[in-house]
Amino acid sequence: MTGSKCKLRIGNGYDIHRLVPDRDLIIGGVKLEHPSGLGLDGHSDADVLVHALMDAMLGALSLGDIGKYFPPEDDEWEGSDSLLLLKKVSELIRLEGWQVVNIDSVVIAERPKLKPHIDKMRQNIANSTNIDCKAVGVKATTNESLGPEGREEGISSHAVVLLERK
Ligand SMILES: [Zn+2]
Repeated sequence: MTGSKCKLRIGNGYDIHRLVPDRDLIIGGVKLEHPSGLGLDGHSDADVLVHALMDAMLGALSLGDIGKYFPPEDDEWEGSDSLLLLKKVSELIRLEGWQVVNIDSVVIAERPKLKPHIDKMRQNIANSTNIDCKAVGVKATTNESLGPEGREEGISSHAVVLLERK
């Protein structure tokens, strides 16, 4: 099976945002407290997990990336709630005739501890994509003090998504 006849598509997405003072720390739609009072810098709410996920969904259908749909130079998206953008991407996927089978993702952050918030993140993503929470995987890991995430210069995320033709 190739091209237009294929019933399944896979996509992957990656994102990273800088950790800076005087910004909120929002991951998976959950507002977190960083022990050093840091938050993620960016044009929208800088929700690194949701951004990686949107790129995975768009990528699965070769539709480009979120910069194409929500350009940073467009004031309309300044301070945007990324979960609302995710809802728009989900609608686009549906209009193209596809639905999400499942999502898996990982957030790489040294601090704060994400584990207590994972289920809420999964629920937020499930609500915005209109799929069952059981089909949404969110994992968290530190970077063992290595690299930009380990030095707390930023937080990154990877996501994969499987789509099925409706
Ligand atoms: Zn981003």
